[in-house]
Amino acid sequence: MKIEMKKITKSFGANQVLKGVNFTVESGEVHALMGENGAGKSTLMNILTGLYPANSGEILVDGQPTTYAGPMEAEQHGISFIHQEMNNFLEMPVVDNMFLNKELRNKFGLMDSKTMHDQAVHYLSQLGAKFDVDQPIGNLSVGRQQMVEIAKSLMTDAKIIIMDEPTAALTEAEIAQLFSVVRRLKADGVGFIYISHRMEEIFEIADKVTVMRDGLSITEYATKQVTMKQLVKDMVGREIDDFYP
Ligand code: ADP
Ligand code: MG
Ligand code: MG
Repeated sequence: MKIEMKKITKSFGANQVLKGVNFTVESGEVHALMGENGAGKSTLMNILTGLYPANSGEILVDGQPTTYAGPMEAEQHGISFIHQEMNNFLEMPVVDNMFLNKELRNKFGLMDSKTMHDQAVHYLSQLGAKFDVDQPIGNLSVGRQQMVEIAKSLMTDAKIIIMDEPTAALTEAEIAQLFSVVRRLKADGVGFIYISHRMEEIFEIADKVTVMRDGLSITEYATKQVTMKQLVKDMVGREIDDFYP
């Protein structure tokens, strides 16, 4: 799957948040989206997944102009958005949270609780995540809850997974596990949009990076061909000699 967003603009009232953003991602690559708080990263992803429309611009999916009616429809077409705030019902079992999604239940057919349990364990074990899925999801660490989100994405046959600042609340060990999962899924052809400010992580996990500033996509680089210093400069709009010499 290839997604191309071209010259996307978006205003909220008088606030023009996106002034012509280009962004492309395809299966089997990790494309980082970087920019200061308020740069419009989440807005761009909300437009991609149909939460609200752009004012102008074009989204091509495999070359075809596309708009989704909402996140559910985007998900049905293989684009899964894992939000920073995971909206789980904390006192409900992990497995029930995994099967809240009505579309998912339809896809797998009406299921008895044993089948749901087995499916939950199956998808989590593909990520190397092993824990009791009958416990309340609120018992799990943020890192484990994120594994649950990725397992849910796999259940919907996600081709592109959007992760919004996924490591913000993770331990180092959890970050290592997340990255190994991302690498494995990437090798299977899944594409990732990886929203982060953490440059060390971007260099470690991403193939490409796009920097957003002032409502524009400033540049797209291959991470192999750019320095941290350049990324900081693009992000803040001026040379910063004190950082990352
Ligand atoms: P980022 O994800 O890069 O931190 P956002 O996309 O969340 O940035 O926000 C970009 C700008 O758009 C901010 O100024 C924010 O206040 C504004 N914004 C985002 N969503 C809305 C909304 N639903 N209504 C009004 N303003 C919004
Ligand atoms: Mg933000
Ligand atoms: Mg955001």
